[in-house]
Amino acid sequence: MTNHKYFFEKGGFKMDISMKHGAEKKSFRIMKPPKKAIIFMQQHIGTCNEPLVKKGERVLTGQKVGDAKGTMTVPVHSSVTGIVEDITKIYHPVSNRMETAVIVKREGKEEMESLPPVDLNDRKKIIELVREAGVVGMGGAAFPTHIKLASEGVNTFIVNAKESDPNLVCDVRLMIEKPEEIVKGIKLMAKALDVKRTIFATRTQEGEIPELERMMKAGGIEVRRVTPSYSVGSEKLLVRELMGKEVPCGKFPPDIGVAVNNVSTAYAVYRAAYLGEPLISRGLSFYTQNTGIDNLWFRTGTTVKELMGGMDEKISRYDRYILGSLMMGWATKDIQTPLLKYTSGLTAFTKKYARPYEKQLKCIRCGYCDSVCPVDIYPSLIMKADRESDVKALKRLHVEDCILCNLCSFVCPSHIRLTEHLFDGKDKLGNAD
Ligand code: SF4
Ligand code: SF4
Repeated sequence: MTNHKYFFEKGGFKMDISMKHGAEKKSFRIMKPPKKAIIFMQQHIGTCNEPLVKKGERVLTGQKVGDAKGTMTVPVHSSVTGIVEDITKIYHPVSNRMETAVIVKREGKEEMESLPPVDLNDRKKIIELVREAGVVGMGGAAFPTHIKLASEGVNTFIVNAKESDPNLVCDVRLMIEKPEEIVKGIKLMAKALDVKRTIFATRTQEGEIPELERMMKAGGIEVRRVTPSYSVGSEKLLVRELMGKEVPCGKFPPDIGVAVNNVSTAYAVYRAAYLGEPLISRGLSFYTQNTGIDNLWFRTGTTVKELMGGMDEKISRYDRYILGSLMMGWATKDIQTPLLKYTSGLTAFTKKYARPYEKQLKCIRCGYCDSVCPVDIYPSLIMKADRESDVKALKRLHVEDCILCNLCSFVCPSHIRLTEHLFDGKDKLGNAD
């Protein structure tokens, strides 16, 4: 069991992570398929999908219901068998806009539409399969996995099992429950990348998951222990920690010969390749102050309301939710919000829970935000540049290097939502380019 009480960060900052202790020992509870699955067309970074089905049509579990042309896209699939009740625009918690969703009402006996088997010795076929299965980065980034696997010139593959967020343990739980499957998924990804070196970066300690470690060793995968400090799970920082290499500003790990993928993504690749199942279910860490952490296995498109109901939680007690990481996730009040392919966590807050960011005070220039930034940029100056819409200054201050870890907002004594300025600043710079 992980026995770190705190994550230590720069500037003497520390964060209590005691909510995680022992939670990796809790098995996944398999949640019932939702009565209605709400399948957003946009569940990845890139071109938005168009619906492939019509209202009233019967669809099977695993059937593709949305796709788009182009490279930077992955399809979406129905997570239940039933009838398409509606195709409509609803509020998307991540993009913060109304987005198209296919709503499937579960009906009749479950029938599965599987992915066709492919030659798993053929690099291109594996990459195509991963695309068809709709696999995206499941650590929260939602970057299409097939694009990473198709990168040329990569010589090292890092599997990210760092799981440094204070509320998440579902990756480690998966490593305990599915070691063989994870190793098979990693090997397929290494084959697709055509790399000789694979590193498994884990926050677990030696002997904590002996079966997995034995299989990794037998498969020629290097196991490297990483400190569980928050935010170093970010790709660029992980590359720096493990390999001592800097990914230059504006570049990505494949540009220096490294590919990074999350451990849950490797498991999704396994399910696609060996079970013919697209990405329609995944694990999540559910947390409330009353219950502590539970590990749940859910179908994509399940709403917050249905998931809470499945946990016998009185929904009226809560009024705010965070999807994903407690630090980097997305807040919503809407209990009809569906859970996505990259929803790794759900945290529910009661009405009494403090809302520190509601009353923002003036910046007192304490510099605390700058001192904790893991990528050594200056959020306080970026905030000023964003307020003044000074695009030149945003560029000079390297706003594009921000990994949106939220640490600056978290430590700010004036409760300033610096991360909003970082989002904005990135946007302004992107639009100016
Ligand atoms: S959100 Fe960006 S600026 Fe703020 S601490 Fe994280 S990386 Fe630095
Ligand atoms: S931590 Fe908050 S108050 Fe301190 S410099 Fe940064 S923005 Fe200003």
